[in-house]
Amino acid sequence: MTDASRVLVLNSGSSSVKYQLVEMADGSRLGSGLVERIGEPDCPDHTTALTRIADQLADRGLGLDSPELAAVGHRVVHGGSRFTAPTLITDEVLDAVRELIPLAPLHNPANITGIEVTRKLRPDLPQVAVFDTAFHTTMPESAARYAIDTETADRYAVRRYGFHGTSHQYVSRGVARLLGKSPEAVNVIVLHLGNGASASAVAGGVCVDTSMGLTPLEGLVMGTRSGDLDPAVLLHLHRVAGFSMDEIDSLLNRRSGMLGLCGDNDMREVSRRMAQGDRSARLAFDIYVHRLRKYIGAYYAVLGRVDAIAFTAGVGENAADVREAAVSGLESLGLVLDPALNSVRSPEPRVVSREDSRVVIAVVPTDEELEIAQQTFSLVSSAAQ
Ligand code: ADP
Repeated sequence: MTDASRVLVLNSGSSSVKYQLVEMADGSRLGSGLVERIGEPDCPDHTTALTRIADQLADRGLGLDSPELAAVGHRVVHGGSRFTAPTLITDEVLDAVRELIPLAPLHNPANITGIEVTRKLRPDLPQVAVFDTAFHTTMPESAARYAIDTETADRYAVRRYGFHGTSHQYVSRGVARLLGKSPEAVNVIVLHLGNGASASAVAGGVCVDTSMGLTPLEGLVMGTRSGDLDPAVLLHLHRVAGFSMDEIDSLLNRRSGMLGLCGDNDMREVSRRMAQGDRSARLAFDIYVHRLRKYIGAYYAVLGRVDAIAFTAGVGENAADVREAAVSGLESLGLVLDPALNSVRSPEPRVVSREDSRVVIAVVPTDEELEIAQQTFSLVSSAAQ
């Protein structure tokens, strides 16, 4: 093993690539950035985007050819049932990720392209895929299966996979650290509330349920996604309203959630409008919070004993009003918020419940890039030994 101590984390989307170069000795970022509008004249494809990133890093003496670079960690959205852990990328692994494209038609192709281009640029460098679904593969069948005909479900791989796994894993460990305990010793409900939003129930460090399903559409109310609804809504819109499948897809994924309910998907704007007495913003907020409280109750029952509830991502870390509304009136479940602590803004992991709260309520900022870097580094370090 050389003393290579850096990991480049790449998150390749359909029209953008985000990157962070992480120094593993202390988790610091030596470089980070975003190349956007891939597919437009200025940046026609992923090869151009990744070459540009490599050039940006090289200009600062941090190029892909630098000996300090240990590996590249790629965020891959869908790992299906097969990928339960970070995986060293080989031709065979890439083929398997390609086979999963029908389950994530927008995301996996972009992730694959990012991997292919990086492999061409540095064929000898270890590349690791870190899957958004992996942390959830421990869910028991009782939580992962939909109650549909088993043969049909198995033939078409229809089951609940869950997403945001890297964040749920990072935050559930972070909350254990905050409590001064090992992850194995705590049961946690993690609420990842960003533009996309999902909840998970984590028992002793192991995910036992999560709110997203076959796709990232199920579960909580999100910025532009509906979350849970009666599947017959789709049939109704198709049969009675004449919507095509693509129109329904677009409605539920892009024009629903907070945006569909009140015209704004940003929680800051929703709160601002609410403060001015805007009724549709208020109703959207109430629907968002109602769904969140249902999941807290559900996961309380799934876990039996809850030690902590952790809020994370853009809304969870910043929106004190959402946190307060999510747990208000739940004192009998052992949840007692401290309004003063809850109103403090900070980038640090912190407790926002009162000292006498039986369940700790915490805010734990997520860091998916650091988690991807750590998983990547530990895989390549152990492989080299
Ligand atoms: P993504 O899911 O795209 O990674 P983030 O986790 O960064 O997104 O969350 C983005 C969302 O967080 C914004 O759309 C907004 O609703 C919310 N948000 C960010 N900052 C604040 C804030 N100060 N107060 C309330 N909500 C916020």
